[in-house]
Amino acid sequence: VGDRLLQIVSQKFSELADEPVFLSRLGGDEFMMVMRSSDPIRAEALSRQVLDVFYEALQVRGHELYLSASIGICRFPVDGTDIHQLIKNADAAMYRAKAHGRNRFKWFESSMESEIQSRLILDTRLRTAIPNNELWLAYQPVIDLKSGSSIGLEALLRWDNMELGSISPEKFIPLAEETGSIRHLDQWVLRTGLRQLHTWKKAGLNPGRLAVNISVRQLENNRFVEELLGLLEQWQLDGSDVALELTETSLMKNIEAMIPLLQELVDAGIELMIDDFGTGYSSLNYLKRLPVDVLKIDKSFIFEIGHDESDSIIRAIIGMARNLGLRVIAEGVENKEQLNFLMEEGCDQVQGFLLGAPISAVALEKQFMEGHGLRIGGLE
Ligand code: C2E
Ligand code: MG
Ligand code: MG
Repeated sequence: VGDRLLQIVSQKFSELADEPVFLSRLGGDEFMMVMRSSDPIRAEALSRQVLDVFYEALQVRGHELYLSASIGICRFPVDGTDIHQLIKNADAAMYRAKAHGRNRFKWFESSMESEIQSRLILDTRLRTAIPNNELWLAYQPVIDLKSGSSIGLEALLRWDNMELGSISPEKFIPLAEETGSIRHLDQWVLRTGLRQLHTWKKAGLNPGRLAVNISVRQLENNRFVEELLGLLEQWQLDGSDVALELTETSLMKNIEAMIPLLQELVDAGIELMIDDFGTGYSSLNYLKRLPVDVLKIDKSFIFEIGHDESDSIIRAIIGMARNLGLRVIAEGVENKEQLNFLMEEGCDQVQGFLLGAPISAVALEKQFMEGHGLRIGGLE
């Protein structure tokens, strides 16, 4: 189907321009078009035609495929005088188009060059982060609003590099997803988190379920479930000790293939959560069919509590979850006003700086030892 798709798309591309265009496939799903004209209006017109190719579903061997394209444009000679430079710069512009939400085109700008440079440095350093012991996990408590106590933890990855300092996951996780190194990172997080949980349990501490963020790329590895179950066995844990957080958009992308896999995890007692809910594209129809247990409302809605729009969205998510038999966790709770609103609306659980910031395992143990359990100030 993939091969046929490439043929169909190539055919459509070759029919687009009313002037001669050099068309080639660079590899994978990347194409290049070279126009003789340096007229930006014509380059943009061609880009729009390319995007229009994907406006409707493509019919490929009985499959209905919805695709999008991201386009980067650069000009000879201002943006480069040889083919390598031009391809590299068009590539940089294309990545920018992807980052801006796909299905669009971007012109190359010289500022993109330094961005590529810093991405390269970040990528190289990230590849040695595990052997160099630069990664660690922070744990943030999940507080149940009925009982007022912590019922679990979310493991959040931290990276401290000697030269670059502390780098935010918002920065290195998307890069790792693109380059594929996310698989190693997520495996490291699972191994480290589960070993930590084992250590705590052996010491008589019970931190509850450990939620781990998992990139959907991880699920593409068909040994993932087997490996996870192996880890649980190794650390004398079972499915009810873990939850996996998956983001909405990535989950919906490949949903039919995902369902049986997710079911296997659920059958093992593992809880599944949809993270950053409300920010992506969810099919409500699939939401019913997916074996998920929890929706995590994205923190951008929580920050806006007090504004009508956000309040209604949160109410709607909680109402929908209730009807579908799902639990709701709100993330990013920073003040009492937000907490009170969520309590009144019947949200089940919360996470946020108000009730506990993500902290290291050592700091968390100290709280345990001081007898606070994980019951934290904000709720009395
Ligand atoms: P997320 O899973 O939605 O995690 C919640 C983020 O909100 C975390 O950011 C957390 O530190 C932050 N946060 C928690 N409470 C508050 C609050 O009250 N106010 C504010 N402003 N922020 C709060 P962090 O640690 O920077 O992680 C960002 C994202 O990176 C995560 O979003 C997750 O998608 C991803 N990530 C983190 N660790 C991993 C990992 O091990 N694997 C994968 N695949 N992704 C990870
Ligand atoms: Mg999360
Ligand atoms: Mg989130």
